[in-house]
Amino acid sequence: MIQNFKRKTLISNMATLRVVLFTGFLLLVLSACSQDCDCETPGAASNQGNTSEKITLRLAHGWPKGYPIFGESVDDYAELVSAMSDGRIELKVDSATKHKSAFGIFDFVKSGQYDIGQTASYYYGGKDPDALFFSSMPFSMTAAEQTAWFYHGGGLELANKVYEKHNIQLMLGGNTGMQMGGWFRKEINSIEDLDGLKMRIPGFGGKVIAGVGAQPTNIPAGELYQALERGTIDALEWVGPGLDLRMGFHKVAPYYYTGWHEPGTELLYFFNKDSMAKLPEWAKAVLMNAARLTAYNMSTATFAANTDNLEIMQDQFPELKIRKFPVDVITALKASNDRLLEEEMARSDIAKEIIESRAAYLKKARDWTEVGVKAYLDSMSESTVD
Ligand code: CA
Repeated sequence: MIQNFKRKTLISNMATLRVVLFTGFLLLVLSACSQDCDCETPGAASNQGNTSEKITLRLAHGWPKGYPIFGESVDDYAELVSAMSDGRIELKVDSATKHKSAFGIFDFVKSGQYDIGQTASYYYGGKDPDALFFSSMPFSMTAAEQTAWFYHGGGLELANKVYEKHNIQLMLGGNTGMQMGGWFRKEINSIEDLDGLKMRIPGFGGKVIAGVGAQPTNIPAGELYQALERGTIDALEWVGPGLDLRMGFHKVAPYYYTGWHEPGTELLYFFNKDSMAKLPEWAKAVLMNAARLTAYNMSTATFAANTDNLEIMQDQFPELKIRKFPVDVITALKASNDRLLEEEMARSDIAKEIIESRAAYLKKARDWTEVGVKAYLDSMSESTVD
């Protein structure tokens, strides 16, 4: 069960080893720095003083307090930052339960009300339409492909280019892996069944279903079940088995469709650029590298939770029906997606640059996925030996 995913599993033995090694490295750097140079005064506005003074930074995330994996990974991040800085950096973490604004992270960090945030970029298409491109895109890259794009294909640079004007610097925060297509009260037999359907689905996927006549909306995690149960919405997508099962959606919407709209959704850490500019280099290195490690741990934890909870769904909830969308539905959604991408490319130069970068990387990464993972899976399923 998801409850088993406590922080111990998020910070693996490998991670602990890396922390020890990295902390040792930092202490060496700090030691050398104290002997050989004049260290900068650390910290954001509240952290004036010498290097021995503690740096305290405020972090807001958009999930309920203690929310499995997404929220827990932020608490892990704070612990990791403390360990890697030998206690010199303290992150004061506020959940949406505290700050009451699940979709307020963008403004919190932009304004400097919080130094750091953790959220999904595609919640902020209303703030900046180019923010939609940096979580996941329909019919686009899987988690492995997109992570490679972020780190090695210019994706993170493009994301930072978009967010620079908002005074925000980014680092990856963890990937959900393949997301499911969502929970539906009624079976979807043809594209006509989406006409007028009210569905919670954020980001570009929401625009795509609007293009085939559905009515997308976005609702925070804490209000999803109630909205589905009361019929405020007819369907919703959240994440995948690992996070969906505990939400109880299967009790009111038994049809669980496979994915198309979020093949690998990345959460991001947002850093206020003014807060970062006031920090010494070692502190910035800790914050960025701890985020990278937290992102890896969260991705692994989500994969593990999905495997555990899919097994439970199949064994214990026979009334829950896992379905693929009919071919005509996927075809219509793909056509809607292609139309929207054309419109977006005409909207701005940066949108065109991002869409073309994603498309080029998808093409080359998918070649390897086909020759590598897909061929392997095909060979396994074709084998006559169990
Ligand atoms: Ca989702």
